[in-house]
Amino acid sequence: MALIVQKFGGTSVGDATRIRNVARRIVAAHEGGNQVAAVVSAMGKSTDELISLAGEVSRSKYPREMDMLLTAGERISMALLAMAIQDLGVPAMSLTGSQAGILTTSVHGQAEIIDIRGDRVREGLDQGMVVIVAGFQGFSPYSRDITTLGRGGSDATAVALAATLGADVCEIYTDVDGVFTADPRLIPDATKLDEVSFAEMLELAGSGAGVLMARSVEFGRRYQIPIHVRSSFHDGEGTWVKETTMEEPIVRGVAHETNDAKITVHGVPDQPGIAAQVFEPLAEAGVNVDMIVQNVSHDGTTDISFTVAKTQADVAREVTEVVADGIRARGVDVDPDIAKISLVGAGMKSELGIAGRMFRILADHAINIEMISTSPIRISCVVRGSDLEAAVRSLHDGFALGDPSKGGSS
Ligand code: ASP
Ligand code: MG
Repeated sequence: MALIVQKFGGTSVGDATRIRNVARRIVAAHEGGNQVAAVVSAMGKSTDELISLAGEVSRSKYPREMDMLLTAGERISMALLAMAIQDLGVPAMSLTGSQAGILTTSVHGQAEIIDIRGDRVREGLDQGMVVIVAGFQGFSPYSRDITTLGRGGSDATAVALAATLGADVCEIYTDVDGVFTADPRLIPDATKLDEVSFAEMLELAGSGAGVLMARSVEFGRRYQIPIHVRSSFHDGEGTWVKETTMEEPIVRGVAHETNDAKITVHGVPDQPGIAAQVFEPLAEAGVNVDMIVQNVSHDGTTDISFTVAKTQADVAREVTEVVADGIRARGVDVDPDIAKISLVGAGMKSELGIAGRMFRILADHAINIEMISTSPIRISCVVRGSDLEAAVRSLHDGFALGDPSKGGSS
């Protein structure tokens, strides 16, 4: 008998029919002799709708009440799913994050799971029930408040729950067939990957591949829980995310991110301590900085550019302008019209010349590179937003990642 955690995303539980389909799938796994715990997201776009409703009621930010509001979305889908499963003759119960013992830090909207007690989940499973847990939410023992884990947080709930329960696998059911060599909405001949290592998936998720929340991949790696990302609309195999894979290709896929903005501080004095003076206050203001480039200095001054999420660009600008005044820099500008393209592949760490090949392909397509950053298994370039599609397409073709049967040019 296996213990399986199944997570269903918003589209998979988007309406009554889909909820009944999900119930049938869960019941099939249960009747196959498995213990099944399910984690659900809010139905369809309901989290977005609740956010915009809050915006209509008030222009101020109330993080505690926002979490109260948003957690309601998952409560609706979990209760409906529990009804649909019981209709099929299988005992089921739904639990909120707090009832399931999901303990988090107290940062509203961005809480981190610190522990899952999970007693009620285990009890229910031992009694032969399907237990459904609301994704994306927990309870802070410090503030005694309900918290949310950040957008896409149900993935983290699912993998963390799988780790707590010692599950054999965590299945993530979604509206795509798995993880692809590029976003199939942009690149029609993108290929579904059979497997991806945790390290690669972390880089892909951190570089804009939306299919899995990065934090869920970290849990998977830390607790060695294999993650199977698959479609909720058919039974076909999806993509396995696990520790080791059959082969380590040089390039596994191309990810892209369009939610970043680039901030440049011009004419910064080229002296020890200046970078710390720029970045310490950003950290204090809670701004998460991604890529950083410092140019060579002319006449004792230099430019520093970095990227942040577009949603943090205004805060970053305010903080940086104050610093720029203090250190007598020339000025600050914010450029939201950028895209970040990343090549990811575990084989890169032992292969020479991949960066050169990437830059050559972009050059051949007249695409200018504005910033570069690397990890041992990733190379990322910032380009103009208008070059996004050409950049992803040319790299996907240039590294022959396409599926020829889908009519790609590679
Ligand atoms: N409902 C939440 C969101 O839309 C959490 C999730 O779907 O994972 O971000
Ligand atoms: Mg998601």
